[in-house]
Amino acid sequence: MTTTRFAPSPTGYLHIGNLRTALMNYLIARKAGGTFILRIDDTDPDRSKQDYVDGIKTDLEWLGLTWDRVERQSDRLDRYAEASDKLREMGRFYEAFETPTELDLKRKKQLNMGKPPVYDRAALALSEAERDALRAERGQGVWRFKLDHARIDWADGILGDISIDAASVSDPVLIRQDGQVLYTLASVVDDTEMGVTDVVRGSDHVTNTATQIQIIEALGGTVPRFAHHSLLTGPQGEALSKRLGTLALRDLRERGVQPMALLSLLARLGSSDPVELRTEMAGLIDGFDISRFGSAPTKFDEDDLFPLTARYLHGLPLEAVADQIREVGVPDDLAAQFWTVTRDNITTLHDLAGWWTLFRDGADPVIDDEDKDFVAQALALLPDGPFDADTWASWTTAVKQATGRKGRGLFMPLRKALTGQSHGPDMSAVMPLLQVVKARD
Ligand code: GLU
Repeated sequence: MTTTRFAPSPTGYLHIGNLRTALMNYLIARKAGGTFILRIDDTDPDRSKQDYVDGIKTDLEWLGLTWDRVERQSDRLDRYAEASDKLREMGRFYEAFETPTELDLKRKKQLNMGKPPVYDRAALALSEAERDALRAERGQGVWRFKLDHARIDWADGILGDISIDAASVSDPVLIRQDGQVLYTLASVVDDTEMGVTDVVRGSDHVTNTATQIQIIEALGGTVPRFAHHSLLTGPQGEALSKRLGTLALRDLRERGVQPMALLSLLARLGSSDPVELRTEMAGLIDGFDISRFGSAPTKFDEDDLFPLTARYLHGLPLEAVADQIREVGVPDDLAAQFWTVTRDNITTLHDLAGWWTLFRDGADPVIDDEDKDFVAQALALLPDGPFDADTWASWTTAVKQATGRKGRGLFMPLRKALTGQSHGPDMSAVMPLLQVVKARD
């Protein structure tokens, strides 16, 4: 059965880049009728925070990316210890004692000689006595996985056929000096034991994938299908990494972006299919195909989220927004009329409050000098409220008769006097909502 996972480290809130990973894994699982696991990669106790775990769940729930199961790596440390023992017994795990400074020096030397900065495996040549001496002097070492120096090949779901020479990669450290198991090992053990069949993640993980394939094979697991999506850039192709903090999902939510707008954009961005606004998750699931995505960096422009949000809102029935309309203070008997008038004139639901303030308190009128007398004359003809759907027609007819004005010269000054704006919703529909006409007070 198809099983995917989204595996964030709870060291921060989710941002737009994480969402791309989460969404692709979610859609693959749902399309196949499989399982989507939320895996919290919290092996680093110093940087992992419960607050972030909660934030991650809130964001995924907001988006409707529901998971079938939650796993936490911190609950599974014994499994990783077991896998470590196995690798040790197999002779694929070795202790190394170089300090970060020593490793740095080695790398610099290699680079100076024009060689790739790959760990030289000096620790493998240590005798038992040398190891004991180092341990006595420096404490525990780190544990490295001994790669098999062969080519590592896989058919990537996005990048196509990949082949990496294991000799060009350093033996990965899987356990730190303080005993902390690192993501590379934990992830492999989890993917294997949880039956993960498909892993989609960012292309910054390609080298990890190469080493993980060998670790999975060493542990007797089944290698999942891998796909590495390109990284997102800003609209001009600039790196997004520095700005990702401002592209946190919680901030986009605060700014009024609608989940389906966000998901519709991200389910297509970087693929050969056009972005289409979907109003239901089922539509996104049906239309998703990972093979349509390309390997080139993908440009993301947050401004694209707002027209999509506006279009999404435009299609919503009153029931879907009734709570928000009530919250801004619109009386229930005016809610339907209010939504009819505002739905085409908002970008996010935050704009509802402004419209209601305008209708409730009246707008500061905008009256051009040459229209002063005309507007005064017209307002004198305005009947007392409450207004209804016919008020605009009967009033403007009366104004036309009294002043001889017609067309734009008649309507525009009245719109501006009543709403303070030169464009906006149909005035016949606005009138029943107007609680106050400021220009008259
Ligand atoms: N915790 C890892 C990360 O956030 C997971 C990568 C993976 O999907 O394997 O980068």
